[in-house]
Amino acid sequence: MLTRFAPSPTGELHLGHAYSAVLAHGAARAAGGEFLIRIDDIDGNRSREDYVGAALADLAWLGVDWDGEPVRQSQRLGDYAAALGALRSRGLVYPCFCTRADIAASLAAPHGPSGAIYPGTCRDLGMAERERRMADEPHCWRLDIARAVVAAGDLTWEEGGQGLRAADPLAHGDIVLARKDAPASYHLASTLDDAMMGVTHVIRGADLITSTDVHRLLQALLGLATPLYRHHALVCGPDGKRLAKRDAAASLKALRDGGLDGPALAADLRAGRLPAGYSLQNP
Ligand code: GLU
Repeated sequence: MLTRFAPSPTGELHLGHAYSAVLAHGAARAAGGEFLIRIDDIDGNRSREDYVGAALADLAWLGVDWDGEPVRQSQRLGDYAAALGALRSRGLVYPCFCTRADIAASLAAPHGPSGAIYPGTCRDLGMAERERRMADEPHCWRLDIARAVVAAGDLTWEEGGQGLRAADPLAHGDIVLARKDAPASYHLASTLDDAMMGVTHVIRGADLITSTDVHRLLQALLGLATPLYRHHALVCGPDGKRLAKRDAAASLKALRDGGLDGPALAADLRAGRLPAGYSLQNP
């Protein structure tokens, strides 16, 4: 068994991250398996190096130990570009020149699990127009989701405790795989990394279960193995809302500074016990 914890270094880790890390780490260690860390630092504008160090210090405080060096998404850009190129050569992605404002203005774009469903404006541009505009207009790359689903075949995955689930990528519309300002989207980078790292069990929050619709599709398109998934309940604060990076009181640093014992907290979380005022909820 090989599991991973993949923080984005855009803020301090909080109790929800600790819960996720402790579950993934505990599952691997109980099976005599490996546990890896991945730093999801593909978003160069929002990622900060001091948050990487802080996250690793938080994990060490909890007694969560990891194998090998943390994997850095910022060092894997070549693999993301190669995968995008492979999809491009199969006609499954297209350049999109729309701005956010363009998309917002195109009628009332309906919303899907990944936000506004792209209305498809750039999907059917002619080759000549595409080439001309690519030369001087910023563009992202979108997956032609309808064609991708036809090309993909079986899209089920094994969800821990629930059996087989069928992915529903069409609900997302033509999602972005490479952004104007970042060479890969979370979906593309995360799917490729999990495969490259040999992750057998993806254990992460239930807020990401709809992302698995897309990840499963990308695995099928790129010939990658499908890990088992377990999407766990989310830690909610005293207001009943899921924790966010702005909830300073729940940050691991604040809890540590307040004198809490890290390994004792980890043991409680593993057993599903949370500090007073916090609760676990399924979205
Ligand atoms: N970096 C992602 C996050 O912090 C986690 C991605 C994942 O576990 O797949 O939400």
